[in-house]
Amino acid sequence: MAWRSHGKNHRDLVDQLKSHGIIKSPSVYNAMAAVDRSDFCHTHEAYKDNPQPIGSNVTISAPHMHAHALETLVSHLKPGTRALDVGSGSGYLSTCMAIMVGEAGRVVGIDHIKDLVDLSLSNTARSHGNLMKTNRLKYVVGDGRKGYSDGAPYDCIHVGAAAPTLPQPVGMGLLPDIPTTMLPSQNITCSSRGPDIH
Ligand code: SAH
Repeated sequence: MAWRSHGKNHRDLVDQLKSHGIIKSPSVYNAMAAVDRSDFCHTHEAYKDNPQPIGSNVTISAPHMHAHALETLVSHLKPGTRALDVGSGSGYLSTCMAIMVGEAGRVVGIDHIKDLVDLSLSNTARSHGNLMKTNRLKYVVGDGRKGYSDGAPYDCIHVGAAAPTLPQPVGMGLLPDIPTTMLPSQNITCSSRGPDIH
């Protein structure tokens, strides 16, 4: 079902992901529906279900991958929780996460390319600047392999950058008892409250 969810517009894209069973949870649906991919992807194919270039030789992930990551972490992206998005790139996933954790939650997106962090700031400001003004969402430049201790402990960490294993300092930022799960395409998604993929 992956790759088949191309949409005519943003709502159609999200509805396709839902009808193909990739989006299952209302909170994931609501978050993705609220974050228009064209604010974060500036090619003429923003509503295609495939990766698209965002500069610096980097791509925004395909929408089905974003949906898959959010579904994997859905039980940890509850109101009031804290999340770290390593390799935040365009900022799309971090913004969805910030919507899911609600007003009392906190999300940090970290990327090691400053131009991309600047891009994620301007992308997010298009429709969701309030998330940054209220400190619900912040972006930082840094090496995600070292984690980001200022926002720790986290209820969950998504690593969108390729990594063969979870770098130890990233895991140190989690609440105790860390299981890690490996998603296809080398995304590592960790949570502190139990594995989501077996
Ligand atoms: N999740 C983002 C981008 C995924 S591409 C999106 O969908 O838009 C992977 C991202 O990981 C790139 O932005 C890259 O710059 C970043 N990255 C790679 N290694 C990193 C590291 N060590 N620390 C922080 N970011 C890193």
